[in-house]
Amino acid sequence: MNSVQQQDVIIIGAGPSGATAAYFLAQAGLQVLLLDKATFPREKTCGDGLTPRAIGVLEELGLVDDIRREGCQMDEATVFAPNGSKVTTQMPERDDVPSMMLAIPRLKLDNLILQKALSAGAHLLEGFNVQDVEMQENGVTVIGRQNGRTTRVHGRMGIIAVGAGMGLLKRLGILKETPLLTLAARTYYEDIQDLSGRFEFYFEGIPLPGYGWIFPLSETTANIGAGIFEVRGRSRQQSAQAVLEQFIQLPKVKHMLAHAKQVGPVRGFPIRTDFARAPTYAQNVLLVGEAAGLVNPLTGEGIDYALESGKMAAEQMIQMFAAADFSVNQLQNYDKKLRDHFHSQVVFCERIRDWYLHKPIINRLVRVAQRRDQFRELFTDIVLGNVAAKEAMNVKTVLQILFT
Ligand SMILES: Cc1cc2nc3c(=O)[nH]c(=O)nc-3n(C[C@H](O)[C@H](O)[C@H](O)COP(=O)(O)OP(=O)(O)OC[C@H]3O[C@@H](n4cnc5c(N)ncnc54)[C@H](O)[C@@H]3O)c2cc1C
Repeated sequence: MNSVQQQDVIIIGAGPSGATAAYFLAQAGLQVLLLDKATFPREKTCGDGLTPRAIGVLEELGLVDDIRREGCQMDEATVFAPNGSKVTTQMPERDDVPSMMLAIPRLKLDNLILQKALSAGAHLLEGFNVQDVEMQENGVTVIGRQNGRTTRVHGRMGIIAVGAGMGLLKRLGILKETPLLTLAARTYYEDIQDLSGRFEFYFEGIPLPGYGWIFPLSETTANIGAGIFEVRGRSRQQSAQAVLEQFIQLPKVKHMLAHAKQVGPVRGFPIRTDFARAPTYAQNVLLVGEAAGLVNPLTGEGIDYALESGKMAAEQMIQMFAAADFSVNQLQNYDKKLRDHFHSQVVFCERIRDWYLHKPIINRLVRVAQRRDQFRELFTDIVLGNVAAKEAMNVKTVLQILFT
């Protein structure tokens, strides 16, 4: 059995949440070891879209110019209702978040973030599949398999950043049951005609409660995918792959793809959106990103949450090391900060998601958004998480928007 020198923080998972936490911790002078079962650069099944909030954190990491160079910038998004009507919304002009979206393949994005963490001083063990975490009073021991050998790594604190895979969290008893999931699948196309240069979300040509997307990666290439939500008490009718197959038969999508070439296979993966009920810590351990169920329940976007929660976990741990206070109160503080920051938006989006079941409601929502600029802007801000739903969306505001 191999053994590695004691670390301040061991981070399991080097995706956006884990690598961002590693970056901020290493910048603060802590000894950080990232473990990932993959070898980077690695693919991650995703729509590859970055919201303004994600770009805000990536700016702090100094990565936005690189991402612009390697990806595609968009300032507008279009939503297609089930009846084919559409509304286009601009990214809101705000002081606190950039007013644009970007798209870049995860193969590139995740590697850029990881390299930032490594250049800040974090270390990485790749091909390291974590199988167990022993949580003791004075630290954590992480046990994994690498190159056919079992290795134990010791740290004062741990961060679990494993994404939507729930095996480890269940084995550790942190996650008690499988939450309702979204299933999503995507593929890439090149030589596409008539790409709009906008992010496009479709409820047209899709079985509800599902959605399709076309996210341009250049003038002629795009990530095209579809997702379908699990609904309590209903068995899922179709796989995400089948929903995507149906989506690309929609006449306007078919036309766009008439001379295009699919590049690479269709890949599917689950998405966790259960933050409102999910655990966020255990003894000497914080959970970040999708491991804490942190994904927008309405859009399936989770990179922004991964980056923000990775940063928040790092800030919490920096305080804990400075005060040499690793008590449960500190772990609860982290949970409270996450809830203050994300809870109302997640719950708002969960409620709206229930409307996805009803075509007439989505048709009406799109119609109102076409006509009422204020409603469209507010709705965009809330869905993107730029403003807190509980502050922005009271009954008086809604009535004012709808009837003035
Ligand atoms: C089809 C699809 C489309 C999506 N589209 C978008 C989008 O357009 N925009 C957006 O913002 N979000 C999107 N998401 C969600 C987004 O991909 C995730 O929310 C985001 O990747 C979460 O980041 P993370 O760092 O928490 O986890 P991940 O990015 O999943 O990283 C987890 C890392 O942990 C490693 N790991 C897991 N288990 C172990 C283990 N036992 N031992 C060692 N390493 C381990 C993995 O190898 C991986 O590198 C999409 C998801 C899917 C499935």
